[in-house]
Amino acid sequence: MNYQAPVREMLFALQHIAGPGGVEPLDPDTARAVLEECARFSEGVIAPLNRPGDLHPATCQDGAVRPAPGFAEAYRAFVDGGWQGLQHPEAYGGQGLPRALAAACAEMFHGASLSFALCPMLTDGAIEALLTAGSDEQRRTWLPPLVAGEWTGTMNLTEPQAGSDLSQVRCRAERQDDGSYRLFGTKIYITYGDHDMAANIVHLVLARTPDAPAGVKGISLFLVPKFLLDADGRPGRRNDVRCVSLEHKLGIRASPTAVLQFGDGLPGSVADSAGAGARGWLVGQERQGLALMFIMMNAARFAVGMQGVAIGERASQQALAFARERVQGRAAGSDAPAGAPIVQHPDVRRMLLTMRALTEGPRLLALCAAAAADRAHAGQDPDAQALHEFLVPLVKGFATEAGNEVAALGVQVHGGMGFIEETGAAQHLRDARILTIYEGTTAIQANDLVGRKTLKDGGAAARRLLAAVAATEAELATAGEAGERMAQGLLPARQALADAVDFMLRTGPVDPAAAYGGAVPYLMLAGCTLAGWQLARSLLAATAQAAGGTNDPFLRARIDIALFYAAHILPRCAAWRSAILQGAPSLQADWLAA
Ligand SMILES: Cc1cc2nc3c(=O)[nH]c(=O)nc-3n(C[C@H](O)[C@H](O)[C@H](O)COP(=O)(O)OP(=O)(O)OC[C@H]3O[C@@H](n4cnc5c(N)ncnc54)[C@H](O)[C@@H]3O)c2cc1C
Repeated sequence: MNYQAPVREMLFALQHIAGPGGVEPLDPDTARAVLEECARFSEGVIAPLNRPGDLHPATCQDGAVRPAPGFAEAYRAFVDGGWQGLQHPEAYGGQGLPRALAAACAEMFHGASLSFALCPMLTDGAIEALLTAGSDEQRRTWLPPLVAGEWTGTMNLTEPQAGSDLSQVRCRAERQDDGSYRLFGTKIYITYGDHDMAANIVHLVLARTPDAPAGVKGISLFLVPKFLLDADGRPGRRNDVRCVSLEHKLGIRASPTAVLQFGDGLPGSVADSAGAGARGWLVGQERQGLALMFIMMNAARFAVGMQGVAIGERASQQALAFARERVQGRAAGSDAPAGAPIVQHPDVRRMLLTMRALTEGPRLLALCAAAAADRAHAGQDPDAQALHEFLVPLVKGFATEAGNEVAALGVQVHGGMGFIEETGAAQHLRDARILTIYEGTTAIQANDLVGRKTLKDGGAAARRLLAAVAATEAELATAGEAGERMAQGLLPARQALADAVDFMLRTGPVDPAAAYGGAVPYLMLAGCTLAGWQLARSLLAATAQAAGGTNDPFLRARIDIALFYAAHILPRCAAWRSAILQGAPSLQADWLAA
């Protein structure tokens, strides 16, 4: 099944919904041209690699990683097209386009192949970290080739004993007389930790100096290239870091997930002449590592949320195409003879509309978050940064949980064929499964939402958002029968979210176990309500355009999807509210820990 990038949906979202000003200062024609070109590239060059990559994953032999078939050629075309630099500053060779537009392009890359698009996604994170915390010299040296995509980036946090809890990081960094460091230790699960698609790999590594205190306060961030640079700034001598093995995975099988060993004296590397230890350079100050890593993680968390949207889009397209062709039975209430396509069965429509609604709502929410980042960057709106930061765990947590639900429904729509690998529906489900785990599990996002995003500012950002939802409800009241139906779904969801915010503020400081026991339901409630808010804005925009008398099926679909969400998805919020407010006592099942 081919992938078709949802260009019109994206343009509609960017122009009418993604927040005040849309994708300003970009004119709609330029936005359309970028999206259409990106669609051509994603559909024509990346998407055909998705299935072969699943069947023939990257391999590691004698420490050298060979990418999946076709990946190196496609990556070269990606670099030649200038796609890595879309949102990055022109000063370093990027195009300086709005993040909201770049996020839409990223969705296309991920929709075409999650495994492929992970490589540029991690490079984006490395670029963000260096832009924020790198020294002038580090930026001058490392950013231009990263922004061009000539070199790629990785994020090295995880170790066998340090997953969600990075205070356990043990990787060691020893200071040298020349100001550099030597790193020793093992990192696991490193995405694109090794490959030969680019001339160099820039690892950003969390490690601990020998005199550092225990816990997160002792962690520092280091830049460790695969190849050290020669006098002309070109990749030269091999550094003392190598891929020990690649993981065998449930999904995203074409993305090399590496175990990396730093500083064990790799033969033929710098270790031969100067002794073991991977050469690295401090980014920012010593012991600031985790704060800096958060910059990279936030960029990556947002991007993983877009992966949830992307896999939802691809699974939805495939399920709809199948449901229009597969003939089985007669639809309930229909007079037509037996032998109708299954899309006519009300329950299949319920599944297909759930898939569409749980893709479009999170997409709008994500683009709203990206537009807030653009406004914050432009200094136009004093609340924009807090809004963006509040939304990031929701985009990561809710959009990826939704992506999993959508991919699972995609299998169900296919019936038995969904369970058979040839259709590709099963691959979407397998690929989607990692999204709620890496870059912080849903629980870790939810803890962030409760602690840093709700309790820390006394609920200020949450309440501003609740007020914005209420303002949209007031607009819905003037939008005829569809507006009224939408408001009927949105109002109780907003009230449930307001109750949950009050509960967190009241309970968090006195009974953290009760508050954090409700953290994931709180994240789901907030994500679901705010995605519903964005769909309500989509309904308003579509209704206003349709009022001109056009009978455009695209606008009709926007209204139908929003109304379906109001009737079928928003009622889930009442259940999450109840679990948050009343669920804590039933979590005290002490026998579990026995
Ligand atoms: C394919 C793949 C690619 C990856 N890519 C990278 C990469 O490029 N770079 C990198 O550094 N890492 C990477 N990772 C690692 C990934 O980020 C971690 O697997 C993830 O953060 C979870 O850590 P863990 O596996 O140790 O699980 P654990 O931390 O052991 O978690 C196990 C369970 O306990 C729960 N839990 C743990 N702590 C808490 C808490 N405080 N509150 C509530 N629940 C909690 C979790 O939610 C989870 O359900 C990757 C992993 C995979 C599988």
